[in-house]
Amino acid sequence: MAQRFDIVIAGGGMVGATLACALRDSGLRIAVVEARRPARDWPQDSVDLRVSAISVASERIFRALGAWPAMAARGISPFLEMQVWDAGGSGSIHFDSADLGQPRLGHIIENRVIQAALLDQLDTCEAVELISPAVLASWQRHEEGLRLQLEDGSELRTRLLVGADGGASRVRTLAGIATRGWSYEQRAVVAVVETRLSHEQTAWQRFLPTGPLAFLPLRDGRSSIVWSTTPQRAEALLAMDEAAFCKTLGEAFDLRLGRILAAGPRAAFPLRLQHALRYVDHRLALVGDAAHMIHPLAGQGVNLGLLDAAALAQVIGEAVAAGRDFAAPTTLRRYERWRKGDNLLTMGVMDGFKRLFGNDWPPLRLARNLGLRLADRAVPVKNRLMRHAMGLREDLPALARGPLFGC
Ligand SMILES: Cc1cc2nc3c(=O)[nH]c(=O)nc-3n(C[C@H](O)[C@H](O)[C@H](O)COP(=O)(O)OP(=O)(O)OC[C@H]3O[C@@H](n4cnc5c(N)ncnc54)[C@H](O)[C@@H]3O)c2cc1C
Repeated sequence: MAQRFDIVIAGGGMVGATLACALRDSGLRIAVVEARRPARDWPQDSVDLRVSAISVASERIFRALGAWPAMAARGISPFLEMQVWDAGGSGSIHFDSADLGQPRLGHIIENRVIQAALLDQLDTCEAVELISPAVLASWQRHEEGLRLQLEDGSELRTRLLVGADGGASRVRTLAGIATRGWSYEQRAVVAVVETRLSHEQTAWQRFLPTGPLAFLPLRDGRSSIVWSTTPQRAEALLAMDEAAFCKTLGEAFDLRLGRILAAGPRAAFPLRLQHALRYVDHRLALVGDAAHMIHPLAGQGVNLGLLDAAALAQVIGEAVAAGRDFAAPTTLRRYERWRKGDNLLTMGVMDGFKRLFGNDWPPLRLARNLGLRLADRAVPVKNRLMRHAMGLREDLPALARGPLFGC
């Protein structure tokens, strides 16, 4: 007998779990199908390789969903300032939360902390069932909805299927929704490192001709690095012993935080820009990386996905409250119209930065260094840029509007 749900969310990563939490009081029966058994416990002082810079708007979503205290208890690292500079000149820009009248610019949080805190919320919720580990293998449409097959042979029925299953989304592929984009021919090398000087609760980023190198501050004084570089260089960095890696990393970072004293395990991820031509189809919607992937240089990927989740939950909730079909094309298209423009704008800006700083043509190098210096002095421009990166923009979903420090 197939289990019946109103909504099945394929993928219980950060975005899928957020969507499930946001829908838990909608009166609908929800299932989250997640391929990997999510980590819930780990050694206290360990820091995972995968972390995200979480914007103020995303913090508001997590607070509104009641997941923030559990994230704070498991460990979050606020950052108050950001320093960005170009290896090919003297241009630099400095962002300070105090200039914006905010207590911080954002937080660095391990991805597993975000996912676990959201799933904790779902544990006590009868309307949402987590089916994991379980892989969505295929699905077909039928008169009243969709029939889903899991890899273990079980079957589910649903009125709406949401693809929150990441960049290689099976939901998107089986729906025949095409994507546009390209590989950056870059890999992001990640590691947790110890530096001789304090990170000063600042996010640091140096633009090298081969890609940006970021140091993200962690609460225990260490930093999480994201080093975007050519695939060949990434391979060489992964193959180095710890001493050679620390020396190479310190030099690439201009010894800004002094010598690198130690580095933990390393991993590398291929980088691409990818955008689904449609976010919705008949009784189907895409959120997060299933809909869009961007370069991690400004830490925006999951923040956009969380806004997708909040917006989709809102249009569904409003349709249910009005007694309308929550999976009707008009409802789903409202979600698509709402999120596509913002996602495209952010993707375009990030891609522009990536190209601008990846080009070593001397006149362009001079111009961008001059631009950085001018922007650093033009406080209104700088504040506008920063507010966008913090997710503080027009037309936010209700969950992302705050009040920020109320709960
Ligand atoms: C090096 C690096 C650094 C980054 N840093 C930042 C940052 O600082 N800030 C930021 O905002 N973004 C950052 N990003 C982007 C961010 O990691 C992604 O945008 C985010 O992980 C997307 O979340 P998601 O839930 O949409 O997809 P995913 O994290 O890919 O989760 C998808 C989930 O679906 C599950 N799944 C897949 N297929 C199936 C299936 N068939 N059946 C069932 N389950 C399935 C997977 O197991 C997974 O749990 C970074 C990315 C990289 C590579």
